[in-house]
Amino acid sequence: MTQKLDLWFDPAKCLIAGQWVDPAGGEGLPLNDPSTGARIGSIARGRTADIDAAVAAAEAAMAGEWGKTAAAERGRFLFRLRELVLDKVEQLARIEAIDVGKPLKQARADAVALARYLEFYGGAADKLHGQTIPYLDGYTVYTLREPHGVTGHIVPWNYPMQIIGRSVGAALATGNACVLKPAEDACLTALAFADLARQAGLPDGALNVVPGLGSEAGAALTAHPRVHHISFTGSVATGVHVQTAAAKNVVPVTLELGGKSPQLVFEDADLEAALPFLVNAGIQNAGQTCSASSRILVQRSRLDEVTELMAKRYGALRVGPALSDLDVGPLISAKQQGIVSSFLDRGADLDKVAEGVLHEAPEGGNYVRPTLFAGVAPDHVLARDEIFGPVQVIIPFDDEDEAVAIANGTDYGLVASLWTRDGARQMRLARKIRTGQVFINNYGAGGGVELPFGGMGKSGHGREKGFEALYGFTTLKTVAAFHG
Ligand code: NDP
Repeated sequence: MTQKLDLWFDPAKCLIAGQWVDPAGGEGLPLNDPSTGARIGSIARGRTADIDAAVAAAEAAMAGEWGKTAAAERGRFLFRLRELVLDKVEQLARIEAIDVGKPLKQARADAVALARYLEFYGGAADKLHGQTIPYLDGYTVYTLREPHGVTGHIVPWNYPMQIIGRSVGAALATGNACVLKPAEDACLTALAFADLARQAGLPDGALNVVPGLGSEAGAALTAHPRVHHISFTGSVATGVHVQTAAAKNVVPVTLELGGKSPQLVFEDADLEAALPFLVNAGIQNAGQTCSASSRILVQRSRLDEVTELMAKRYGALRVGPALSDLDVGPLISAKQQGIVSSFLDRGADLDKVAEGVLHEAPEGGNYVRPTLFAGVAPDHVLARDEIFGPVQVIIPFDDEDEAVAIANGTDYGLVASLWTRDGARQMRLARKIRTGQVFINNYGAGGGVELPFGGMGKSGHGREKGFEALYGFTTLKTVAAFHG
């Protein structure tokens, strides 16, 4: 059955200390195809014993060859790994499409982005350095940027390849040894990536992958007393668990917890330029994107125009199986389909202006039609809560102050964009908006591997991506030498 996936490794195993091993408990979890709902294989159900083994392997790697590898050599390793990823882009894309239901072209873009992260962090590996600090007479003082040691990476199911690239890529570049717990619904490309890393010459134990349930393998990793840093992407509720567990070991965490990201369309906006971003940022990956733009704030004078243009695009959106490569695929799981459907039910009182169409979508798949609501009040549940599905709301505003108040009016603060030709307004609002990223006359253009990314408020804390991630995956040591 798993032949359909064309895997070159056994998905029912963990990769620990450079070896494919059965999970200690010998148990598996079902592997489902979101496009059909069919079971297509099994993955490993890793538990505490497997996490213990993976952490021990990572410690051994730090004490051994990996811990002694020069920064430039780590960079070269990431470049070799990039080549292997690029050689396998089509295969990785197909695996991801089948495993998470992502339309093929979006899965392909993720694989290419993974390669780009490896290129970026490979190039940066030997360019991170400390400083010398003027101090008392007779002293030389300098700082060293050192790896944390063993880093834990808890990766969700929506963008496995990209999130592995940005977190594991940066952690390896800075000389950490990693234990990766992918989501139970999306672990195949994590295993593929770790095997390619092995092929690229990564010393045993520098990257270990333990699939399993979040409440078992994930919780064991987060609470592990010998893990020195945790990178987590996922829901607020689980992020709170992760931070609480890490606090008991006084371990730093990076939390990236999603958002309710707005695009602000002012009356002077170039609508032709804005339109593709307004819609795509909401429906990409079926809206299951931490930085999805689920709120479109429109100045009242352009409200009808924007609503009409967006509705037209929505009506043309086709939804179907991942390998059909349409605009929108299925949601990851029946659970996620249930969450999004219940939000749609709670929007029954709203003005639904358009929906996408199902196109040869199999009965058992986790499909939801992309849905656009207009004239929504900012305090409506659909305008406040993260839906994580292909649903957008259009919210009218009258002036700049009201737009800012609405934009900043949720618990989240991940991304925002401003559509306006007024340069002074661009600068003013970029400062007033409380999000980790602000785009002006675009929304996430170019993938943003180079751009520091992370949230304010309940969107989390810490920054990944860009050079900034290298600071997060290192710790700073100050050396003060008295020599007279
Ligand atoms: P979770 O936050 O529960 O899952 C994210 C990751 O955390 C997965 O790898 C999961 O493993 C793991 N995990 C779950 N419980 C624990 C735990 N106790 N300790 C350590 N790790 C754990 O998200 P869900 O998959 O349940 O999705 C629910 C909602 O979360 C979505 O509707 C969306 O709103 C949000 N979300 C946000 C994401 C983002 O990019 N910011 C990504 C995914 C979800 P496993 O899946 O194997 O249980």
